[in-house]
Amino acid sequence: MDTMEKIVSFAKRRGFVFPSSEIYGGFSAVYDFGPYGAELARNIRDAWWKAMVDEHENIVGLDSAIFMHPRVWEASGHVGGFSDPLAECKQCHSRIRVDHILEEQGIVADEKMGDVEINTLFDSIRGKVTCPKCGGKDFSEVKKFNLLVQSNLGNFTGDWNKEPTYLRGETCQGIYVNYKNVLDSTRVKVPFGIAQIGKAFRNEITARQFIFRKREFEQMEMQYFVHPNDASKVYEEWREKRWQFYLDLGLSEKKLKWHQHENLVFYAKAAWDIEYEYPFGFKEMEGIHNRSDYDLTQHSKFSGVDLSYRDPHTNEKYIPWIVETSVGLERIFLAVLSDAYSEETLENGETRTVLRLPKKLAPVKVAVFPLLKNKPELVAKAREIFDTLKTHMRCEFDDNGNVGKRYRRQDEIGTPYCITIDFDTLEDNTVTVRDRDTMEQKRVKVEELGNAMYNK
Ligand code: ATP
Repeated sequence: MDTMEKIVSFAKRRGFVFPSSEIYGGFSAVYDFGPYGAELARNIRDAWWKAMVDEHENIVGLDSAIFMHPRVWEASGHVGGFSDPLAECKQCHSRIRVDHILEEQGIVADEKMGDVEINTLFDSIRGKVTCPKCGGKDFSEVKKFNLLVQSNLGNFTGDWNKEPTYLRGETCQGIYVNYKNVLDSTRVKVPFGIAQIGKAFRNEITARQFIFRKREFEQMEMQYFVHPNDASKVYEEWREKRWQFYLDLGLSEKKLKWHQHENLVFYAKAAWDIEYEYPFGFKEMEGIHNRSDYDLTQHSKFSGVDLSYRDPHTNEKYIPWIVETSVGLERIFLAVLSDAYSEETLENGETRTVLRLPKKLAPVKVAVFPLLKNKPELVAKAREIFDTLKTHMRCEFDDNGNVGKRYRRQDEIGTPYCITIDFDTLEDNTVTVRDRDTMEQKRVKVEELGNAMYNK
């Protein structure tokens, strides 16, 4: 089994990620977070929110709706141009992303390219391309495929193609259209940012690579509104901050690298990605973009509402430029999981699977065990400790099987500490605290437990 297969099967076995609607055979490129996955995702969201909103006086949060006025997607350019180039294998009918295939051959294809141009490029490498599914070598012509997911919300005509409404393809549009509301309802002044976490939907052509590329996923985006003259400087500051975020999150630096976009869309002034080395190679985790005044200008034009900003000190009127940081929660989730997953051989020859998650991301912080489940006095004491700790941090109570097995279960889900209550506890009010990484065990006084756990 390769590392990716191991992670996929581990994620399901230990309740991190389940294929969607699995009892019906699954649903391509859609996944559910299981009990531990939901906790890990929540901790990643919290870490992002803390770094972006809590720690910045001038960044505020937002939670805009998934559905928006259809004109939003015309103004943003999604209806006309949000597409990926697709070719179909004539043998097994599976689809490939032609821009990705070209990239593997060292050819940069960008969103601006027309049908003829991209077909010419694809024709030049056809001989080298094999279908990842069946190995076939015969592909259809390249077609552009729009990624917006369409719905019939509020459409009672019976015709899906009439007046289509869309599930948002990115969360940032909700930020742009609320920019004026935020300015008018809070005390923010340029420079300031608006951050939001929420679902986005894309009809992704390829559905491989597990949760890396989902059709329903969660974005964490921050749009920073600045004076045009400050955009380049601010952009560099955000690049630094976002890099540091991943180091603070505990990802290993050698698995991170920068990737600069060569062919920018016409409005973008700069675009860099932070890539992570997933089990299938270095791929985009986060994008950091200098978007100029494009978004607010477009929405001013399409809505007829003036979205310019008047500086309260200088009285200067201008359309703010936007520096954007955008990342998919699932891409961080997969990076964190791949970084943390390890299998090690113990002295006795057994294999231990351990998730070396940073403590702040661990789904469960502490597990509490009574040594024996059939000794009511041990169970009562363990419950008492569990009930106290659970008000401070996510805890799990486990009295099933021998303590060694319970340790293994907790190691697999990345629980940093296990506390065992034994007969000595009843005598001297101390417990055994066992460390996930070193497997060392120490006796700690119960009254010091709360502080000890909290400080760790
Ligand atoms: P890709 O080239 O991988 O398709 P993109 O350049 O289209 O990504 P953006 O539109 O810049 O991605 O989206 C910003 C971020 O949203 C990405 O950096 C990524 O973290 C996340 N993202 C985009 N598409 C998906 C997806 N299908 N599943 C999970 N996360 C995604």
